[in-house]
Amino acid sequence: MARRRDIVAGLASLPLLSLAGGFMGTSLAQENTLDGDRLATPDGDIVIHPVNHASLLLGYGDQVIYVDPVGGAERYAGLPAPTAILITHGHGDHFDVPTLEAIAGDVPIITNADVFAKLPESLKAQASALANGEDGALNGVAVSAVPAHNTTADRMNYHPVGVGNGYLITLGDKVIYVAGDTEPTPEMLALSGIAVAFLPMNLPYTMTPEQALEAINTFKPAVVYPYHYGESDLSVLEGAVNADTELRLRNWYPDGA
Ligand code: ZN
Ligand code: ZN
Repeated sequence: MARRRDIVAGLASLPLLSLAGGFMGTSLAQENTLDGDRLATPDGDIVIHPVNHASLLLGYGDQVIYVDPVGGAERYAGLPAPTAILITHGHGDHFDVPTLEAIAGDVPIITNADVFAKLPESLKAQASALANGEDGALNGVAVSAVPAHNTTADRMNYHPVGVGNGYLITLGDKVIYVAGDTEPTPEMLALSGIAVAFLPMNLPYTMTPEQALEAINTFKPAVVYPYHYGESDLSVLEGAVNADTELRLRNWYPDGA
């Protein structure tokens, strides 16, 4: 009899359980409101959401990491708020104080020394600067700064050595590489085990598609996204990327800008 009552009690508590389940479902749904390409990890999907040019969002669990957010708050309307922000360097297509002031709230920011110095005092308190090669963390997510600079003599003035950062972002068992504004550097070419790489290509500021192709076929990321490509001819990459790398061409200029 007692056992039976337990069963009845168990049944009676089912609505509560399903309510809890529904609640969990809601919270999961909130985590997943960021749409985009998905990459599975043992602890849930990474969501990759291109925004515009050099701006992108990475979702993972309850984290939404904004990379180089610019273009004003309206560009981010309808997207989940950031839980952390990464800024590669100080050029206007990567760093914009009014955008940060509108969207950053009090979330942690990692950037380079140049941008850190240019942040308003109100944002400095939540920001930290990484030099090339230094490691940091955003809400427990490991972030390493990779050198990002030009290597061609007549382009050095755009991105001199030792200023800009690319970032390695570790989400679960995957390492995401956001290259920033750079040509292929020895550090880039020496990378291995990269799950996803974002590589810029536009002249005269970064690299040619041919340079990008050579880099892709050297460090062989599992997935590569050309980004920050402006008017570059991406057809150079099609059919030419090595068999270990998946080329993902996306429209990074939804507004035509
Ligand atoms: Zn730049
Ligand atoms: Zn740029």
